[in-house]
Amino acid sequence: MSVSGPALETLSNPERLERLHRAVLVCTRCGLSGTRTNAVPGTGPCPAEIMIVGEAPGFNEDAQGKPFVGQAGKLLDTLLAGIGLRREDVYITNVLKCRPPQNRDPMPNEVESCAPYLTWQLKLVEPKVVIVLGRHALERLLPGHGPISRVHGQLVERGGINYVAVYHPAAALHNGSLVDDLQADFLKVRRHLDAILDPPPPPPPEPEPPADPEQLSLI
Ligand code: URA
Repeated sequence: MSVSGPALETLSNPERLERLHRAVLVCTRCGLSGTRTNAVPGTGPCPAEIMIVGEAPGFNEDAQGKPFVGQAGKLLDTLLAGIGLRREDVYITNVLKCRPPQNRDPMPNEVESCAPYLTWQLKLVEPKVVIVLGRHALERLLPGHGPISRVHGQLVERGGINYVAVYHPAAALHNGSLVDDLQADFLKVRRHLDAILDPPPPPPPEPEPPADPEQLSLI
């Protein structure tokens, strides 16, 4: 992951993230570098309170170099809008930064090769909540947590970061019966966000007990 420039320690997090993006664009750590059109590092603000992690770029993402710009991306935008968020509010990336041919599942060696990028993105973006899209991102970010069919919508804290896994929008596009689940998942995400990012103010202090008339007479 080396790209030349000023010493890493002198850079701000957004600058370091920018450098990471540039490293991804020229990455040759696995065979997907030979079949991609463009690597897709990620988009969005840094720092960001909310980060979204998907599986891997598809056809449109590979063509444009941006995450979630195809049909699944349109559905993601709709789901985000439904809970009062815009794409520009969140940092979006994938487990794999390059498209697997024919959109096949990521292979373990590809996930391993790409892992340092996601690890660094988490450190640099410093999200408070990570929305984990689908089973591949779930396996990578929350190994052993359980199958997506059981844990979707649940909040789990690991290493000081809150994660909530939801079904992948592409899965709902293929299997219409998941659309309701996915919408319900996003409503749960909203509730988790409210609790974490905008907790209710602490209750007002207890009122002073009424003064004891006998003590008052001593004053
Ligand atoms: N599916 C993903 O997981 N990521 C994308 O960027 C697009 C589709």
